[in-house]
Order: sequence, then C-alpha cells, then structure tokens
Amino acid sequence: MGKIYLKTDEEIELIRESSLLVSKTIAEVEKNVKEGISTIELDTIAEAFIRDNGAVPAFKGYRKDRLVFDYTLCISVNEQVVHGMPGSYVLKNGDIISVDCGVLKNGFYGDSAYTFSVGEISEEVKQLLKVTKESLYKGIEASVAGKRVGDISNAVEEHVNRHGYGIVRELVGHGIGRNLHEAPEVPNFGKRGSGARLEEGLVIAIEPMINLGRRDVRVEKDGWTVSTVDRKPSAHFEHTIVVKKNKAELLTTFEYFKQEEKQKQTTSEKVISNQ
Ligand code: MG
Ligand code: MG
Repeated sequence: MGKIYLKTDEEIELIRESSLLVSKTIAEVEKNVKEGISTIELDTIAEAFIRDNGAVPAFKGYRKDRLVFDYTLCISVNEQVVHGMPGSYVLKNGDIISVDCGVLKNGFYGDSAYTFSVGEISEEVKQLLKVTKESLYKGIEASVAGKRVGDISNAVEEHVNRHGYGIVRELVGHGIGRNLHEAPEVPNFGKRGSGARLEEGLVIAIEPMINLGRRDVRVEKDGWTVSTVDRKPSAHFEHTIVVKKNKAELLTTFEYFKQEEKQKQTTSEKVISNQ
C-alpha cells in the first residue's frame, strides 16, 4: 500500500477540520433517518451540507477500475456491509443503516461511519451494534505510539470473538491524509505485536465491519455493494484518529448524534440502577 506519512501538527488540524465536517454531515443525515425516506434523499442532504461548508464529498467520483461511485455517502442497509449505493430504497421500521461519509477540505480527508437504527430493532441486532461500536473503541485504545497495527487489529478481533460474530476480512481500515486511503492497512483481525509500528502523528481510520452471522461477504451485481452471503445484518462504525504518546485522539466524533446520546443515557441509567 506504500509509504506511511506521519502528519505534522498543522496537517492534523486540517484533518480535524475535515473530520469534524464529516461528523456534522452524518448528524444532518441522522436527523432525517426515519421510516419513509429514500436513501438517495439522504445522499442529497449530505452533499448539499458538505458543499455549503466549502468542502467536497470524498466518495463522489471514486474509481475502482472502470467503475465510478457517483454518490456522497455509502449507505448500507441490513445485510449490506459497506459501499451500498444510495437509491430508491425507502427505509422501514426495523432497518439498520450504515452511513459512511468522507470529505475533502483544504487538501485533506476525513472519514467516519455510524450504523443507525430505524424505529424499533430486535434485541439481537441492538447487541450487534453495541458490540461493533465497542470493538472500534477497543481498537482506538490500542492505538498508542510504540504499539503495532496488529495490536489494534487484535483488540478489535478479541472483543468481537467473545460474542461469536463474523469479522469481515476483505475490507480494512486505513491511513488517511492527503489521500482517502493511505498506508498502513488496519485489519479488524490479527496478531498482537505484528505489522507496522504506531508512531506519533500517524492518522488512521479504524472501521470494524461485523456480521451477525458468518463472516463471508460478496460484491453485488452493481459492482460496489458488499453484502453478507448469509443475508444476515452487518454493522459498521468508523473513526478517524491520530496516534499519540499515551492515548489516541479522535478527530471524528459521534457526539452530534441523537442515537449516541440516547444510548449513553440508557447506559448511565443502568449504571445507576445497578448501584
Ligand atoms: Mg474508511
Ligand atoms: Mg468510511
């Protein structure tokens, strides 16, 4: 995948600006995540918001061989894992939807994803979302200078394995900066102590893609959408972070999301009632 570029403080601030815009864009999308809206409508909202903020959607025009991705967001519903194309699909109660967004501003990229629920979802799927998000934070905790990429991968893998879910192997996290995808690759499985050394100023996107059932995925006929082979649901959460000495710093945030707030409240209520 090429050379690893460590970022200067100035570059990190620019990536932070792009990353925060990504987070705000996903929050704008979330306001509209409800039964009856089509995924292309969500995409239109996201594109307008990004352009109003002086940035460019990073995924629009993205090329894979001769295929061109022509949307601002990757929207992946239910059994779709990632790279779903916005379209005429209308959200219904019980769906989950991964909203993945990237922007380019001042020459630097930011990248984040969150899986939202539409109305009421089953306990089983709620648990999948919870564990997938937890595994992302396990990976972030392991992202400190001196450790290795494999320590991040292993932290994600160990947490997910405890719950018996399928970890997607074909797609991985990545370095990010002047390019949307840079070295190193950050898999969601791997051996502790292996891979590239984490150094201060390394900016990476960590993004576990976790399946309720088996780990196997396939690409749909559209050439982009990655879905689970067993058609069971899949979750996806992503943060852009920077490696520091003792603790990684998040450049994207989930704090703008209503569903995140709600979950936090329920968790703290539980903590209180357990005491
Ligand atoms: Mg990414
Ligand atoms: Mg992404």
